[in-house]
Amino acid sequence: MEKIDLLVSAPHFFTMKGDGVGYCPNSAMAVDRGKILAIGPREEILNLYRANRTIDAEGQAVLPGFIDAHMHMTLCGLRGLAQDTGYWMMYGLAPFSHQMDEATGIMGAQLAVAEAVRAGTTTFGEFGRRPDLLIPFFEKVGVRTQITVTIREAVDRIYNPGELYEFDPARGERMLDACLDIFTRFNGAAEGRITVLFGPQGPDFVSRELLLRIQELARERKAKIHMHTQQGDRETAQMMMRYDKRPIAWLDEINYLDENLIAVHLTDADDHEAQLVARRGAAMTLCSGSIGIIDGVVPPAKAFQEAGGMVALGSDQAPGNNNHNMINEMKLTALFNKIRYQDPEVMPAWRVLRMATIEGARALGLDKRIGSLEADKQADFILVDLRRPSLAPIYTEPMRNIVPNLVYSGRGDEVSLVVVDGRIIYENGRLIHLDESEVVSAVQAAAERLGPKAAEEFWEVNGTNARFMKEGKL
Ligand SMILES: [Zn+2]
Repeated sequence: MEKIDLLVSAPHFFTMKGDGVGYCPNSAMAVDRGKILAIGPREEILNLYRANRTIDAEGQAVLPGFIDAHMHMTLCGLRGLAQDTGYWMMYGLAPFSHQMDEATGIMGAQLAVAEAVRAGTTTFGEFGRRPDLLIPFFEKVGVRTQITVTIREAVDRIYNPGELYEFDPARGERMLDACLDIFTRFNGAAEGRITVLFGPQGPDFVSRELLLRIQELARERKAKIHMHTQQGDRETAQMMMRYDKRPIAWLDEINYLDENLIAVHLTDADDHEAQLVARRGAAMTLCSGSIGIIDGVVPPAKAFQEAGGMVALGSDQAPGNNNHNMINEMKLTALFNKIRYQDPEVMPAWRVLRMATIEGARALGLDKRIGSLEADKQADFILVDLRRPSLAPIYTEPMRNIVPNLVYSGRGDEVSLVVVDGRIIYENGRLIHLDESEVVSAVQAAAERLGPKAAEEFWEVNGTNARFMKEGKL
């Protein structure tokens, strides 16, 4: 009998193999040196292997860990400060983001990871200027990360409506250099748990010349480009002013829509534009909660999928979405699209679960390693306790309700175990390598310092929430 690291047996496995959720009852999975060795009928697997640790997950389901494809985790310390407002970035976020420092960002990211791991996220797609600063923490906690380094040529300042962004080519060069440096140092690090992408902030923030250089350098390195694309009427207005073209038409003209691009949001894209992006082979990241709250828009992911495109899900950031919980993201994606198309058959539970797992992995180019439970893939998986009141009762024969229960009724606290690369990182209600109470206290202390500093600008901007507070409504 072969001796291995870990054996997991459970009454329900959702492997994501095939076109659906790949349901396998009464199965077991053998894990060794970070990888899935075999998965199959319970007795067969248990007869083949002996393990250092055997988990008999009675009453539980095994699923691939969730992939959160687009996050700005460093903003988590600003949770709940910028919702329910128009001009979110200026009226909601700006008074607070102006007071953010590096230390508060790092603490915020720790809070986001603690929150997300508890709800089953194993892969974190952080997008930011210095995501490398978070790497020691990611390595300590043991999560998988795909970081994107922001490259921006537009000068940071307040622009009036109708004013074209001012480009500073030297700034663009510096940020590209930083991206290349981070790529060289960290892509493939931590036994492959870290991948690095190139992140032009958007076609409105970077000149044509620099965008094309980024494309060439990314291609040479076989890295993807992760870019906010047609993320709002603000971007469309900039592109119309500068090039007299809408963003997607312009990006197509410069051959930017290809299999190397992950297009985030498509907030202001119509169905035809989304389908063009998909037909060119690019992938999409959909942030349903964030774009719903910030813009009141449901992006055209359904049209994108109908054109053959792969769509990943992202939680974006806490001052917009308010949380980093992929179960919530799956539910909102299913609900918002049913409402948008006035059709209950749009985005069924099994489909959004695929978007949080295998379809997301394909969108990000990670599907050779993760996204489904199959031999030779990395052992990134979660256990979900189906005996919790929010998921009970379950039906398995002859009909099945586990996936709809998880998507529409789950809260995240039903996740009982989280494993990345075969290593347990969350069990018995706690993260193994992180003192959560310390993190929460540190972020609370930072919030108490930041709030008073942001007050003057907050009252001066006088956004919706400032008015609600003055009126005693909030
Ligand atoms: Zn973003």
